[in-house]
Order: sequence, then C-alpha cells, then structure tokens
Amino acid sequence: ESFRRIREVEDKVQAFITLDEEGARKRAKELDERREEAEVHSLFYGMPIGIKDNIVTKGVLTTCASKILENFIPIYNATVVEKLQNAGTVMIGKLNMDEFAMGSSTENSHFKKTYNPWDLERVPGGSSGGSAAAVAAGEVPFALGSDTGGSIRQPAAFCGVVGMKPTYGRVSRFGLVAFASSLDQIGPITRNVEDNAYLLQLIAGVDPHDSTSADVEVPDYTKAFTGDVKGLKIAVPKEYLGEGVSEESRRAVLAALKVLEKLGAVWEEVSLPHSKYGVACYYLLASSEASSNLARFDGIRYGYRAKDAENLWDLYKKTRAEGFGDEVKRRIMLGTFALSSGYYDAYYKKAQQVRTLIKQDFDQVFEAFDVVIGPTTPTPAFKIGEKIDDPLTMYANDILTIPVNLAGLPAISVPCGFAGHLPLGLQIIGKPFDETTVYRVAHAFE
Ligand code: GLN
Repeated sequence: ESFRRIREVEDKVQAFITLDEEGARKRAKELDERREEAEVHSLFYGMPIGIKDNIVTKGVLTTCASKILENFIPIYNATVVEKLQNAGTVMIGKLNMDEFAMGSSTENSHFKKTYNPWDLERVPGGSSGGSAAAVAAGEVPFALGSDTGGSIRQPAAFCGVVGMKPTYGRVSRFGLVAFASSLDQIGPITRNVEDNAYLLQLIAGVDPHDSTSADVEVPDYTKAFTGDVKGLKIAVPKEYLGEGVSEESRRAVLAALKVLEKLGAVWEEVSLPHSKYGVACYYLLASSEASSNLARFDGIRYGYRAKDAENLWDLYKKTRAEGFGDEVKRRIMLGTFALSSGYYDAYYKKAQQVRTLIKQDFDQVFEAFDVVIGPTTPTPAFKIGEKIDDPLTMYANDILTIPVNLAGLPAISVPCGFAGHLPLGLQIIGKPFDETTVYRVAHAFE
C-alpha cells in the first residue's frame, strides 16, 4: 500500500533519499509467515515506517543527506531502529533532511529538495522535512525525525502533521549521527496524536548504549487519552505572541486557547524574558558541538574520500572541502572559533550561562502551570529559495522552538488551523519527562 502511494506522489514530493522496496517486501513476507507463531502481536506488527537519514540502519545506506556519507552503509542499527524491528515494523526507506540536520527547509540536502505536499512551491520545513512530507503525503503513516532546535516540530507544523520532541534523555540517541549532542533527540512524526504517543511509547526508555538516556520509567501514554483538561493551567508567554509572529499564527493560537478554555482549562499570560537570546545562544552552542562531532568525518573512517591527495593532511582537507556543504562548513568554522582559547569565555561559556537562564525561566513558569502553549513557528511554510541565501533569516525561523531544546523539555506540534491553504502548528511544551500531560492536552485539542 505504501509503495503504491509512493509511486503516485514521490515524483512530486521527493521525500526519500533511499527507498528500500526490496528489503521491505522481503521483511513483510517474513512477518506474514511468522504471524501465526508470533505470540504477542504488537500494534505495530506489519506497519510501514520511514526513518530520517541520520539514524543508522544496518545494511541500508545512511547519508545524513551529505556527500561525505554518500556511500556509508552502517553495520549496526540505532537503538530506536532495533526497537521498531522487534515490534514488527517494516522500514520503507530513509527520508530526506538538511545535511547533518542543519537547516529549517530541507534545502541543504546534498541530494535533492523535498516539496511541501500542501503547496509544491513551498518548503516542507526542516531539518526533518522528508519525514513530515512523507507522512503528510500519505506515503507512510509513521516516521522518525530528530530535533536539535525544532527539526521535528517545525516541519510537522509546515506539513500539517503531529511531531513530538521528547524530553532530552527520554529516547536513546545511540545510532543517531550526532549534530549537537546536548540538544539532539529522536521523536515521532505521525498523522494524529494517538499514533504519536504509541510510537513514542515504543522507542522511549533508558539504553545502556547511551549514557545520556535517562533511567526514568516510561509511563503508559495511552492513559493520556482522556479528553479531560479541566482545571489544567496553561501559560502563554507574551514573547511567543509578540514581535515577529504573524497575525495568522497569533490568531490560530488564541482560537486554540478558546477551545481549551471551553474544555475547562485556564490560561494566563506569562513572560520568558530570556527566550529572546535563544537563537543566538543556540547557534553558538550547536555550532560548537557540531564542530567537535563532525571532526570524525576525515575520509579515513567513513564515507567519501577525496582522490589525488598528496599526504594525510591534504587528504583530510580535500575530503572535508569536497564532502561538506556550505551550511555545514559555516557551522564548523563558527563552532571552532567559539571554542578556541581566548574566545571560549566570551562566547561558549557565555552561551552556556544564557542557556541556564532560559531553563530557569521555564522552571519558574512550571511552578505554577502545567503546560506552556504558543505557536510552533512565526509563519506558515515559506517559499522554496526565499531564505536560503540569508542564513540569519533562516535561523530566526527557529525562535519559538529553540528555547525548548536549550531547556531539555518535551514539546509537540499539532495542527491548528490554516493561513490560507497552509497549515499552522500549535506548540505544547511540558515539564521534563511529562510527555503524558503534553499528549493529554494535544489529544483533547485535536
Ligand atoms: N533549524 C535548526 C538548525 O538549523 C534546527 C535543526 C534541528 O533541529 N536539527 O540548527
């Protein structure tokens, strides 16, 4: 069924880097044969799923949408992929993204652009643009993305689907190619809230292979489907409805709050005074971590290797010069600069301190409220080509999602009306490890 739909629309949407039709058919056949003997039938038995191409899949090309990994075939599965396999899912293919998850439009992929299924002249968002577009276009019912500064929620909002960034540590990062290790999280992208919660349930939990995964019990998220939000306290940061946020997004959020109010929730305006420093702080920290994480791509250990190098240094230089795209190079340079001695205190250390202040803003609000609500993005999907030559405008697009990663919190984007023909997203942010309440509100609202 998935492949029939993919044949219908993939020419237009271009969501996949790799389609593994042969592998998927073989796997489906095996599952069919085992169906009788399989004692426990998981909900996901036989379900098709697409995986973002920065999550490693044994024997299946994993490129991070980069030339430097154009021929990289991993010899192991990410923990999340292993869990999906054990539950009987069928991996359909690997989804397009911005190179190494750096971007907000999927235009930074070395291989192709992905088009927004709602309007083929617009971006699907990024960096998990392929994942959101594939779900929105009906190519797969489930996808995994990764979110470092908004890469699950922003494309989910642009494509009218549901995307969850879990609490930092909720899902194992083992096998997720690292961009900024203190911010990265894997999460589900689905068509509705229930599917999303089921998928998170499946992939969540502590993992001995990832020391940053948290040893915190994973609650039964299905308990969240009560429809009951009576007495729930919602905080709405005034910074999230202020300058730079479009009238349509503001109106959609206010309409959503009305719905929740009718259901018995109460809301109040609050302030997150340091959130305005989020973007600057994020781009320093994320670039610093990236410059360190991406040092491993040297032409020796993985992927692409430049030809005609004169010596080892020359090989490193040529491989990286040819293998990385412009945005990745920009971040490596910025990050290396920010970490270099003499500048470290002024940039990296300062940014760490600001990160703490941003986290404290949220801590304070959560003393009196259950969730924080605002738009996912300041505007609906923008046109292809509109921001790609101006990195700062592109970065500014993440202003509402980034503080959540800096604070390590869980947050979902659910569809929340339209601006013309373009979907908008409502962002619901929760306390650490309280995905249940986030799902409860999202489900009641949906
Ligand atoms: N757009 C942001 C960036 O370019 C976020 C990316 C992400 O979450 N992976 O860094």
